[in-house]
Amino acid sequence: MKLTVIGHWGGYPSKNEASSGYLLEHDGFQLLVDCGSGVLAKMQNIIGPENLDAVILSHYHPDHIADIGVLQHARLIQGLLGKDVPTLPIYGHDENREEFRRLSYKEITKGIAYHPAKHLMIGPFQITFLQTNHPVPCYAMRIEANGKAIVYTADSAYKEEFIEFAKNADVLLCECNFYGSQNGKKAGHMNSFEAGRLAQKATVSQLILTHLPHYGQISELVHEASSEYTGIIKLAEEFLTIAV
Ligand code: ZN
Repeated sequence: MKLTVIGHWGGYPSKNEASSGYLLEHDGFQLLVDCGSGVLAKMQNIIGPENLDAVILSHYHPDHIADIGVLQHARLIQGLLGKDVPTLPIYGHDENREEFRRLSYKEITKGIAYHPAKHLMIGPFQITFLQTNHPVPCYAMRIEANGKAIVYTADSAYKEEFIEFAKNADVLLCECNFYGSQNGKKAGHMNSFEAGRLAQKATVSQLILTHLPHYGQISELVHEASSEYTGIIKLAEEFLTIAV
């Protein structure tokens, strides 16, 4: 499995960068996890929009879905230009009917509701879900293929259930929207100490901090998380690639 970070900023994209978007590839299958602002522009450095095989969304905040509309336009236009562009499945929860409806567009994309209590197979990936603590319904994902696991927390305050959910993952892609001195509970986000503690308790192989804040020295997040977690810690950055 190969993970490529397309965008990693919390809330909105930083200048010339993107908010949440992660490309997962295995056996030639290309799955985009979240599709925030700036993702479509940045993703084209790696893969054309017509070459995606599926998209899955954690929740419907703009920094995770803003580029769905332009992804639909891109596939429409590439199809009109003569490329073979099949209907793209976009998986999302259907707890917000209006947002879910927008995932379907002509024959270009089709919204498919995932059922968080069940396993989901998308191409070679087996996905399980955990509801997060966030102001709107949001789901973390444990994505497995070929005996490897990548766990993406999506947006969430710290919750104990993450420990079991992320157990022994090869990569924990953990949101870290706050510094250690801040409390993210009300906003539905984690701080650096919580991300580190989760990685340590879940005994993951490496921790990638993402959904990063737009202020302060973000390298400080790694320093803080390392007081809780003894393994490898990286900051998410554009086009960071990790193969497991
Ligand atoms: Zn959110």
